[in-house]
Amino acid sequence: MRMKDRIRQLKAEKGAIILAHFYQEPDVQDVADFIGDSLDLSRKASETDAQIIVFCGVNFMAETAKILSPEKKVLLPVYNSSCPMAMMINKRRLLDYKAKNPDRKIICYVNSYAEVKALSDVCVTSSNAEKIITHFQHEKMLYIPDKNLGMYLKDRYDLDIDIWPGYCRVHNNLKVEDVVIARNKHPHAQVLIHPEAPLDVLKQADYVGSTRGILNYAQQSSHQAFVIGTESGMLYPLQKACPGKSFHILKEPMSCVNMKKTRLTDVLRALEEEQYEIHVEEGIRKQAKKALDLMLELS
Ligand code: SF4
Repeated sequence: MRMKDRIRQLKAEKGAIILAHFYQEPDVQDVADFIGDSLDLSRKASETDAQIIVFCGVNFMAETAKILSPEKKVLLPVYNSSCPMAMMINKRRLLDYKAKNPDRKIICYVNSYAEVKALSDVCVTSSNAEKIITHFQHEKMLYIPDKNLGMYLKDRYDLDIDIWPGYCRVHNNLKVEDVVIARNKHPHAQVLIHPEAPLDVLKQADYVGSTRGILNYAQQSSHQAFVIGTESGMLYPLQKACPGKSFHILKEPMSCVNMKKTRLTDVLRALEEEQYEIHVEEGIRKQAKKALDLMLELS
């Protein structure tokens, strides 16, 4: 039996659901029940009736699913698929900051671990960060851990906000000259960039938004060609959603090694052996859930 068919059969037998991030390999996206960005996947994880969630992404995403759905078995197919940005902040450093700045609201990007979310007031994703930040705009804030999304928000709104110095290596690597080169190469294309890129690069874009935002923009636009400034896995769902249009990556390579660790064989093994199960300590989970629930309520 073909591996994809075996995965689909096992999934049905076990009543499992496969969730996959847009950055996953095309083969993995093909066996998923639902593909999306962090906000889409958080919502889906909290709404599904399935008792087993196989989460194809990096570990903070599977952890988020477990926080929202503690009664379900959440499986991460590759044990060590982690996000370097999420590791740029930890509980000890955040507690230290909070002790010195007790009046600041902690606005936490979902690209973070449960113990950090548990110390935060609200979570955001790149889809809803603008909406949520305006809710707190008259308060003093700390934005963690992505400096680029933080700088983008600070530039757009008049905020009293401290910004943590974390970043995504894939997006932080983009330069203004990359946009200039891409525009010369594809003069009729629109440039769509994810807000994890540096602010000077974002100012060169025709559109700045999350992966879901980029997908919606490309679908609704009358333009036929686009330069995409985010992880290269995004080209596959874009091409599927917009078959007549052309998409070019802003810079080669724009590939997240951790997102690309998950293979079909890992998904199959996850279902066969029900591994690797995600656990979150209950006290931390409850606190982290408050920040995620507020995000879902405000978005
Ligand atoms: S693309 Fe960047 S933010 Fe996303 S998982 Fe990879 S390193 Fe983390």
